[in-house]
Amino acid sequence: MTQTAEVVIVGAGIMGVSTAYHLARLGAGRVIVLERDTVCSGSTALASGGIRHQYANRLGIELTTHSIVTYERFEAEFGVDPNFRQHGYLILIAAEDELAVARRSVALQRELGVNVELLDAAATRELCPYLNTDDLLGATYTPRDGYADPYLCATGIAARARELGVVIHQQHEVTAFLRDGDRVRGVVTQHGAFEAGAIVIATGAWSGVVGTLAGVDIPVRPHRRHKFMTAPFPADRIPAATPFVIDPHQNFSLRREGPGLLLGHGRRDEPDGFGTEIDRSLEPRVVERAIHRAPALAEAKLMRSYAGLYEMTPDQTGIVSAVPGVAGLYVIAGFSGHGFMHGPIAGQLMAETLVHGRAVTMDASPLDLARFARGETHVEPLTFV
Ligand SMILES: Cc1cc2nc3c(=O)[nH]c(=O)nc-3n(C[C@H](O)[C@H](O)[C@H](O)COP(=O)(O)OP(=O)(O)OC[C@H]3O[C@@H](n4cnc5c(N)ncnc54)[C@H](O)[C@@H]3O)c2cc1C
Repeated sequence: MTQTAEVVIVGAGIMGVSTAYHLARLGAGRVIVLERDTVCSGSTALASGGIRHQYANRLGIELTTHSIVTYERFEAEFGVDPNFRQHGYLILIAAEDELAVARRSVALQRELGVNVELLDAAATRELCPYLNTDDLLGATYTPRDGYADPYLCATGIAARARELGVVIHQQHEVTAFLRDGDRVRGVVTQHGAFEAGAIVIATGAWSGVVGTLAGVDIPVRPHRRHKFMTAPFPADRIPAATPFVIDPHQNFSLRREGPGLLLGHGRRDEPDGFGTEIDRSLEPRVVERAIHRAPALAEAKLMRSYAGLYEMTPDQTGIVSAVPGVAGLYVIAGFSGHGFMHGPIAGQLMAETLVHGRAVTMDASPLDLARFARGETHVEPLTFV
């Protein structure tokens, strides 16, 4: 049995549901989302929910400027409290080269209207007295940033998209694409075929694999990323309203998660792969980094660990684009560990591209897939893998 639609979206993470929602708002006709598992079951479900303006390139800053407004007004638009805790983002600086990047990035962020401060070590300690700043040159701090709950957000957007007429089929894995020469006509699932004028690949870390099914090269590779939760830890030692702290030099992060803390650590030389089993050898390393940076954590207990997948592109920047040479095929993927925060604007730009032939809310040309073939890539250095 074949079903038809104006647009079929493959994948129901933040990118797929955001695209579907914006298509429905723009009156794009019948929109079907096909998800192999359930809504928000991929990387979005495991994201730390961080939303920050702190990028070195203009694009990342502008994407956040557009997206953060959605998270700030989320409850009014979607009827769900996204638990957006605007406790700020603090990126630590431990080396001269990091300070040079910070100076340039802060200047650009300010030029684009971001409230950002470059703190010295003493001011960093004043802001977060629990941090050991002995080995730091300072930090950059953006008070408007913070973190929201990715599951509440993605499922909230999906629910509103459904209310607007979008059909979401779960347990529908796309296993093949239907092509007529240079045009893609539809996709195949175990429940039958779905034909549409436009097919959108929104399959996160799996987008390279799904691209291969369609006969196209989408340069997205999976990169395992670990998180560690502590048992409840007293708020008089590390306050509940502490910023999301990133320590790039140590490849370490921390923020509050309810009564405990959420810690991040990984290996920069982690090989590509889809495995999400936990690398136990990271646990002593994360404990060591945690105690070094926040000595009070010597009394904390690690409670559990998990790993998910970042969806990395060669320039650590996302793709929102038509696929050159294949009419009717589009891709929204590869946000390289920043996709939760950029999901709202990325979905809007994808929907505008489908409906109007080009993005109108902001210039989406730096997100073009063809940039890789042209060799016009600008790596975003403030990506923490
Ligand atoms: C540990 C961790 C922490 C992170 N922290 C942050 C953060 O603080 N801030 C931030 O902005 N980002 C963060 N990220 C990154 C963020 O999670 C991703 O950038 C974002 O969720 C990508 O969304 P997506 O919709 O592209 O992918 P996904 O959420 O992975 O959705 C893709 C969907 O496609 C489905 N799919 C795959 N293949 C098929 C198929 N053949 N047929 C049908 N469906 C298919 C999958 O089941 C999945 O549901 C983090 C990621 C991880 C792993």
